[in-house]
Amino acid sequence: MSSPALPAAAPSRDRVDACPGALQTHAAADGGLARVRVPGGTLDAEQLRALAAAARELGDGHLELTSRGNLQLRGLAPGAEAELGARLADAGLLPSETHERVRNVLASTLSGRTAAGHVDVRPWVRDLDAGLRADPVLAGLPGRFLATLDDGRGDVAGLGGDVGLLALSPGTVALILAGTDSGLRAAPADAVALALAAARAFLAERVDQGSSAWRLAELTDGPARVAARLGGQDGPRVRVPEAPVTGPVGAAGQLDGRTALIGVLPLGRLSADQADMLARLAAEVQLTPWRSVVVPDLAEDAVDDAAVDLFRTGVVFDEASPWLQVTTCAGRPGCAKALADVRADATAAVRAGTLPADGARQHWVGCERRCGRPQGDVVDVVATPTGYRIEED
Ligand code: SF4
Repeated sequence: MSSPALPAAAPSRDRVDACPGALQTHAAADGGLARVRVPGGTLDAEQLRALAAAARELGDGHLELTSRGNLQLRGLAPGAEAELGARLADAGLLPSETHERVRNVLASTLSGRTAAGHVDVRPWVRDLDAGLRADPVLAGLPGRFLATLDDGRGDVAGLGGDVGLLALSPGTVALILAGTDSGLRAAPADAVALALAAARAFLAERVDQGSSAWRLAELTDGPARVAARLGGQDGPRVRVPEAPVTGPVGAAGQLDGRTALIGVLPLGRLSADQADMLARLAAEVQLTPWRSVVVPDLAEDAVDDAAVDLFRTGVVFDEASPWLQVTTCAGRPGCAKALADVRADATAAVRAGTLPADGARQHWVGCERRCGRPQGDVVDVVATPTGYRIEED
């Protein structure tokens, strides 16, 4: 059975997790860093415009896509949090101050729009988000908590969620706990309630174990004990799909005859101008955990122009592009620990065609902490005082 890499021993969690939020920002070397939760990765055009304006007027002019389909703003001046919070609230991006950091919800890309899945998980995203926000107890979830809602295409179930729903058929949904099948099943209409119950059970088990674990996998027998709290089930288990290394790229035909464009943003950077362009092209977009953006619902005669416009700004539609192989941490100037400007160096290597390790999937980092390292096989390109060290397995 596939499962995310789990710690060999439960790490010590003697402090509350410090995951940044929109209000609880992180003081980075280049200014405040705010993380905006985007459940299911879905943003409407007005929200894109609001984020673009905030990035331009309050931050460094860019939005960063995270591996959870969320967004970050960097370079915030001291005191900008209040203005940012007000703008986000006006745009519907901060519907709860108490629960904002726990709204980490990944959903299948293009669910309900293409034929790959068994169900349309978009209503699950709305209902799960609303359910999380409606329960005061769930404000106590760690900021690292992650829910995955997989329509059966197998794209997000393996991405390391604490609680997940995986559609097995149009009528049956499996509850996934810390990357393993719990054996518990629900009808699609009851699935969100089961996921919310699992989130509550995680918190209850954490209390009973006297633990301050940030992730369900860090609890002793966490998945089994949470499943038992929910009534348990002895049936056969399914294999949870491996997380894909990259998501879809290019054009995808939708069930309704329209087309979705999926473009990768190099190093996960979306400029304010690009965000404004996306807002002009579509009523809503979907951010993916692979640092790409889906522009759906394009009429046939609009696809080519949209693709050209986005391509000219640097959006990548070629699945063979080296940009799909490269990720980085923040590096200089954003991180005080960084020994190099890893983004600039990785960008130069892509443009010059000189990526190390024959262009294999690689993660560039500014120090040994290796923040943001993706799951799976990846070459580490680690900055040292004397240059980069290439670590191939
Ligand atoms: S890997 Fe090091 S340099 Fe990069 S963001 Fe993490 S702490 Fe900073």
